[in-house]
Amino acid sequence: LSHGQSPFFRLPTANLHDLPSDTDVAIVGVPYDGGTTYLPGARFAPYHVRRVSAVVQSYNPCLGVDTFAVLKAVDAGNVVFPPFQAELVRAAIFEATTSLVSQGAIPFFVGGDHSITLPILRALAKVHGPLGVVHVDAHLDTSTGAIWGNDFHHGTPFRHALAEGLIADRGLVQLGIRGAWGSRDEDAPSQGADALIVRADAIHEGSISQIMREQVWPRLEKHPVYLSFDIDGVDPAFAPGTGTPVPGGLTSHQALTIVRALAGLDIVGADLVEVSPAQDHADMSCHLASAVLFEAASAIAKGRI
Ligand code: MN
Ligand code: MN
Repeated sequence: LSHGQSPFFRLPTANLHDLPSDTDVAIVGVPYDGGTTYLPGARFAPYHVRRVSAVVQSYNPCLGVDTFAVLKAVDAGNVVFPPFQAELVRAAIFEATTSLVSQGAIPFFVGGDHSITLPILRALAKVHGPLGVVHVDAHLDTSTGAIWGNDFHHGTPFRHALAEGLIADRGLVQLGIRGAWGSRDEDAPSQGADALIVRADAIHEGSISQIMREQVWPRLEKHPVYLSFDIDGVDPAFAPGTGTPVPGGLTSHQALTIVRALAGLDIVGADLVEVSPAQDHADMSCHLASAVLFEAASAIAKGRI
């Protein structure tokens, strides 16, 4: 590890506004948890995911690709913002995303809470048009400001994204959904957009490979695809380090299978959000987070060999 520092996956570091010209993937941290409704702490995830990702090596035997030999990937540092005004945070994330994409890089973001995803989707949809979105989460994240008095928090990004036309027709896929809802019609925004909701129960009772092949792929293969991975989509037995844990979630294996199954799609960006290291044990959530990011990078690399 160079001089005791640990960039994501021991990659070279770069300035996000001045990437090496041939950069394929730029991984950036977004240390913001001001959108959290319950337990904060996700602002520390970029530090700890960087730290544990040092153990991940380059060759992916499942996909048969030497990920970081095929892709030129860099750690482009953290998005910088004053964390006290959410609107300024969203503006900084939007500008960072726009900058990375304009330099030809596919941006990967390590949150931070899930409120960081809305400005990312805004910036990507502006460049690519409406996106297919693979959203792994215990929660639908299509809530309103009714409870908290503010319309922009980590439970609302996909309602805004649908309302703003950032997501392609039938292009929202929500995997791992479970737990109690505020009311029977909590899924109305998703149903109204004809989203595919695959509940965690359906994944446990069926085959995630088959679901990805038969239900998810047909909705995504014609669109630029964004992966938004909330670590609480995974069961707290595997990923306890998160602010809103919900029992009954995905296994690590199911989570990694979902990401690996994206190989061959036109992936234009990804985020990994809601890891809260203070709630973690033995770094297990951080290790899973770095494995998810590695599989997403591998899925892109697989499409390029
Ligand atoms: Mn979420
Ligand atoms: Mn969640």
